[in-house]
Amino acid sequence: MAMKYVSTRGAAPVLGFGEAMMTGLARDGGLYVPETTPALTRAEIAGMAGAPYEEVAFKVMRPYLGGFFGDDEFRGLIARAYQGFHHAARAPLVQLGANHFLLELFHGPTLAFKDFAMQLIGQMMQAALARTGERITIVGATSGDTGSAAMEAFRGLANVDVFILFPHGRVSEVQRRQMTTPVEANCHALAIDGDFDEAQARVKDMFNDFAFRDGVRLAGVNSINWARVLAQVVYYFYAGTALGAPHREVSFTVPTGNFGDIFAGYIARRMGLPIDKLVIATNQNDILDRALRSGDYLTHGVKPSISPSMDIQVSSNFERALFDAYGRDGAAVAQLMGEMKTGGFRISQGAIESLRSSFASGRCDEDETLAVIARHWKTTGELLCPHSAVGVKVAEEHVGAAPMITLATAHPAKFPDAVQRATGIRPGLPPHMADLFDKPERETRVPNDLAALQAIVRERIAR
Ligand SMILES: *Cc1c(COP(=O)(O)O)cnc(C)c1O
Repeated sequence: MAMKYVSTRGAAPVLGFGEAMMTGLARDGGLYVPETTPALTRAEIAGMAGAPYEEVAFKVMRPYLGGFFGDDEFRGLIARAYQGFHHAARAPLVQLGANHFLLELFHGPTLAFKDFAMQLIGQMMQAALARTGERITIVGATSGDTGSAAMEAFRGLANVDVFILFPHGRVSEVQRRQMTTPVEANCHALAIDGDFDEAQARVKDMFNDFAFRDGVRLAGVNSINWARVLAQVVYYFYAGTALGAPHREVSFTVPTGNFGDIFAGYIARRMGLPIDKLVIATNQNDILDRALRSGDYLTHGVKPSISPSMDIQVSSNFERALFDAYGRDGAAVAQLMGEMKTGGFRISQGAIESLRSSFASGRCDEDETLAVIARHWKTTGELLCPHSAVGVKVAEEHVGAAPMITLATAHPAKFPDAVQRATGIRPGLPPHMADLFDKPERETRVPNDLAALQAIVRERIAR
């Protein structure tokens, strides 16, 4: 039976995998989720231990495709997606302390975990477009890493234009240069006068303007796209089975902003991976930690931090977790999201209990982030990026009997200023990016205004 995808707001067409991937945001403003979660057997999970990353990826994702790609075709796409990674293990584990491990997800071409999903989506979308000869316009918002990963995955493709909105002045220089230096004419870096939440809101506005959306054939690569989340489920199985699952439980701590990465862990658990604790780690923009403790999801406005990829207060994928916590009641989710316009909502008693049974949480402020980077450099020799440091600090508060795996989401060289402040060491870019600072930059400053943004997109794709 082909897997179907439904919207978290219950009022959009039910789609197959390929359509859900190309559609991005559902037409009722919701996010697509699979109608059911396929479970893997204990034997299937046990069989992943020690297998190559690509093999685990095939086994974890195949049940979601509904036959959209044939098996051989899908294996080929996976192979091409990960061949550009700079570590044979793709996602190596290193030990940080007693029962505490770091999953290094930063060996992809743009040095952040976003490459795991984006490289694969690039391959999958290209294969889908090749069948129909269609052209699409990708528009995405980024707090820094999604944008660079998307440009790397789509640059130079004949039938795709990629527009990335990033908050002007609020991304690291390495992040910015990764977006502004691709020379391909189909890459458009747009520096918006606003923060990430505003950039993401304008992208959603474009999707909700159906005339525009259909006119430019809009597609999305933010983690509103289910295929992004799906690709991230893989490394939970890969790391979990490396440390003894399914024969014993494992725990994960995930530095969180838009809730996509940790939601992938939640899916892994529902598919049968025995996850004890799944811990949300936030920086000083701690809406998710506060919401889980108090039951009130209230936005306070973003405070720029040294872990900018997590400077988010409107956490898109949290909607997917709410959908399950509200018993998959799309109307209830739509009502909550309506209340977001006035700054937030109260989570029902039943739903908050359900969320607390799935997730633990903690926060890490700026000083603590620097202190953790300094301490680990001294004691373990591991140079942590500030996002990974937020995870490590929160994880240390949650280590129990099960091995704890903290997701290291970016390479320290992507955030050299913070790392240098903490350690005195300025991490250098890996050789494949050594010329990043010599390349000319190309970016367009844009206002936080829907009509102006739409005009830019229309004008650029008409060239
Ligand atoms: C995107 C990102 C995060 C947050 O991931 P979400 O899926 O948005 O929760 C954390 N760290 C880094 C380095 C990132 O790029």
